Amino acid sequence: MPLIVDSHQDLAWNILSFGRDYLRSAQETRRIEKGSPTVERNGDTLLGWPEYQQGNVAVVFATLFSAPARWAYDWETYSYREPKEADRQYRQQMDVYHRLTGDHPDKFRFISSVSDLDEVLASQREVNSGGQGYPVGLLPLMEGADCINDFGELEEWWDRGLRFIGPAWAGTRFCGGTKEPGPLTPDGRKLLVAMADLGFTLDLSHMDEPAALESLDIYPGHIVVTHGNCLALLPKHEFNRHLSDRVIRGILERDGMIGVVPFNTFLKDGWLVGKSNRDEVSLMDLVAHIDHICQLAGDARHVGIGSDFDGGFGLQSTPKEIDTIADLQKLVPLLLSCGYSEEDAAAILGGNWIHMLHRSLPV
Ligand SMILES: [Zn+2]
Repeated sequence: MPLIVDSHQDLAWNILSFGRDYLRSAQETRRIEKGSPTVERNGDTLLGWPEYQQGNVAVVFATLFSAPARWAYDWETYSYREPKEADRQYRQQMDVYHRLTGDHPDKFRFISSVSDLDEVLASQREVNSGGQGYPVGLLPLMEGADCINDFGELEEWWDRGLRFIGPAWAGTRFCGGTKEPGPLTPDGRKLLVAMADLGFTLDLSHMDEPAALESLDIYPGHIVVTHGNCLALLPKHEFNRHLSDRVIRGILERDGMIGVVPFNTFLKDGWLVGKSNRDEVSLMDLVAHIDHICQLAGDARHVGIGSDFDGGFGLQSTPKEIDTIADLQKLVPLLLSCGYSEEDAAAILGGNWIHMLHRSLPV
C-alpha cells in the first residue's frame, strides 16, 4: 500500500472549535457526536489516528486557520476582527500542534525539517515490517496571513517551526482571495520578499488569479497549491476558488505541486452541501482533476491530494466510495484503470509531496 501525504487538514480548528480528539478513531468520534450541532456544522468526521494507520497516511499538512468575522458563521469560535486577534488565534493553534506532538510522540510528530520528515518515514517503514502503529507527521501550514502584523514576526513563526504560508483565504491585507477578488497589494509584495528571505514555501490556495499569476512571476522560492481543483472541469462554478489552466501551467513551470480536493462541491458543478446526493459523485471525478493536471504537465509528478477533510465539510460531502481518509487508497486501482503505472499512483498518493518536502524544507 503506498503512503499518503495529505496537504490540507484543519486539525487545530476542529480541536478548538468542536473539541474533536484525533487520537480517537473517526468511528468513535461519530458515535460521540451523533445528533450534536458539530455534525450539522461540519459533517461527520473523516479523520482519526487509527484511520491514518489504516490508510498508510504518513504526513498531514496541519493548518493554522481562522475565518475573518465578516465570513464566519455565528457559532464560529475562531473568527477574528483585526490582525491582533488573528495573531492570538493562530499562535494558539500552533501551540495545539506542539502539544499534540509533545504529549503523544508515538502518535504524532512535528515536522519542520528534512530530518524530522526522514525520521517519520523511517518509523513508518519499521511498523510496516511488523510494529504496532507509527507516528504521523504534522507539518504546520498557515492559511490566511492576516495574523502577520509586521514582517519581523515571520522570523518568530519560522522559529516556531512554520515553513508554509498561504497569504489568502478570503481577501487579506496581502491579496485578493476567495469571493474577494483582487491583486497582490503593496503589503502583499513586501510579505513575499520577507517570506523568501527566510525560505518559506508559498501556498497559492485561495489566491485570486491576478495575485497568483504575479506571485508566480516574482516569488523566488518554492510554490505550491495545498488544496485546489481545476477550473477547466468546473466551468459553472460561481466563485473564484479554482485553478485556471494559466495558474496550473505557472505552477508546473516552477516545478510546484498541487493537492486536489475530494470535496463534492469542488468536483461536480452544481453539487450542493446538504441538498445533493453523495452517490452522484465518485472518486473517478477526483481522478479527472488529477488527470487534467498530469495532461498539462506531461507527467504524474506534480499532483497530490489535499483533502481538506473536516474543513467545513464531512463524510456527507465526499465521493460515495469514501468512509474515512483510509479510503483514499481506493484511488490506486482507479488510477491503474486509467493507464497510470503503480509508480505513478504511489507518487500521486504521497511520493510527489515527499519529494517536494525534500526540496523545500531546511535540512
Ligand atoms: Zn482552504
